[in-house]
Amino acid sequence: MSEAPVRDQFIGGRWVPAADGRTYPDTSPYDGRLVAQAAASSRADAQAAIDAAAAAFPAWAATTPQARATIFLRAADILARRADEVRAMLTAETGATQGFAAFQVARSIDTLRVAAGWPYLAVGEVLRSGVPGRFAFTVRHPLGVVFGITPWNGAHILAWRTILTPLAYGNTVVLKPSEDSPIVAGLMIAEVMEEAGLPAGVLNVITNAPGEIGPVADAVFESEAVRLIMFTGSAPTARRLAERAGRHLKRTVLELGGYNPLIVLADADVDRAVDAALFASFYHQGQICMNARKIIVERPLFARFTDAFVARTATLVRGDPADPATFIGPLITDRAAELVEAQVAEAVAAGGSILTGGTRDGRLFAPTILADVPASADAAREEIFGPVVLVEAADSGEDAVRIANATCYGLSAAILSGNADRALALAHGLEAGMIQVNEQTVAGEIGFPNGGVKQSGWGYTGPAGLHDFTEIRQMSVQAAIGAYPVPK
Ligand code: NAD
Repeated sequence: MSEAPVRDQFIGGRWVPAADGRTYPDTSPYDGRLVAQAAASSRADAQAAIDAAAAAFPAWAATTPQARATIFLRAADILARRADEVRAMLTAETGATQGFAAFQVARSIDTLRVAAGWPYLAVGEVLRSGVPGRFAFTVRHPLGVVFGITPWNGAHILAWRTILTPLAYGNTVVLKPSEDSPIVAGLMIAEVMEEAGLPAGVLNVITNAPGEIGPVADAVFESEAVRLIMFTGSAPTARRLAERAGRHLKRTVLELGGYNPLIVLADADVDRAVDAALFASFYHQGQICMNARKIIVERPLFARFTDAFVARTATLVRGDPADPATFIGPLITDRAAELVEAQVAEAVAAGGSILTGGTRDGRLFAPTILADVPASADAAREEIFGPVVLVEAADSGEDAVRIANATCYGLSAAILSGNADRALALAHGLEAGMIQVNEQTVAGEIGFPNGGVKQSGWGYTGPAGLHDFTEIRQMSVQAAIGAYPVPK
């Protein structure tokens, strides 16, 4: 146990221990083994990282698009070289199955390559002036320091998503990964970018211990250099952050949870719909923001679909995420497993029934399907962050859309049907930021505006994030000073 490496933070281009020398254990969700001792950052570390990012900002903001692109492309090659190592760390730190780990690394490499084009997007426009002889235009400027806060679930890809947009548009970044994934969601990103030649201070990574975010957050909010907080995580945490950001007039980009409906219309191919539902509900053991939380089936197909879905769910292999045969790995912590168990019990107490699953072996939660959950129960509207999904019958496509929208969230939604025209017509009524026809809910592509509506958040990364991560400055020029109605 004592052989686990001690991992320093990355501040101002240097690898440094926490200011007060403390560390905390970073453990594996599957077997609890110690992966590393990570630096336990405090307010002093956060301040040092913010200062380093602020100092690096003017020079980075002045770099050419080509220079940024070159670094991103080099980073893609470095990440490709280190792919096995990153995949193994995703499994060790976050319990990602082999499939999900491989997906994240491949998507991260692709994102780096695509993001190499983003610096060229930061353009302004020529304005139509009403004053003869005046040429007016806008230019886009980066904001300054962006503070990125990421979760542990899609640990690697979401960390790249958090840093690449601000960096592409000329901002500098302090990244604070989840306490549960300091290496794969933070320190490995810094290693890759350092090797790729990112100048010192442009990206900084600090790693606080569980329960110690308070002083770090104080430094962030009280610093005038931090202009935007890019947060990916849960809605309850976001509410606290947004409230405080309002007081300090800081921008926020919020990528939050969802209660994602998957609608199966009566004319859908049942086998394929079941495949889609299994993936949507249980991929990464239901710990993805876009996992389907409710499968809404048009009544004529409900019994047939549900029988097949239940039968296939019961065969999903649970176990060691390092085993390629495993489809359902561990939940991230004991607390998470206990919470999912309590939420299932609440749904049952409210009148719901368990069609399969509902049990757990430590952090290994059985994939679970609930039916008959009344609309008034929390589980009918709130995310259960584990392998738990509800099924519900709808009287028509329109009724399915009504049920789908009966939540305060609006992240991802999907409709499966043999009639894409009818499905698309219904899809226009769905209240979600990402809507697919004949694709399941865990969808989205690099460069698409991946984000939510309603209480699933606001703001975007990538091309759609240009407005969030830059500011417009209006300018004008005319040949001579104008005439003014002032007494001579
Ligand atoms: P969380 O809200 O508990 O934590 C997210 C991050 O916020 C962590 O880094 C944590 O350290 C930090 N944090 C917690 N309290 C804070 C505070 N007071 N000030 C500043 N930072 C604070 O979420 P989680 O459990 O890590 O992640 C799961 C949640 O994230 C789910 O709700 C999921 O749906 C959501 N999520 C959304 C997306 C998306 O793109 N929309 C992607 C992944 C996850």
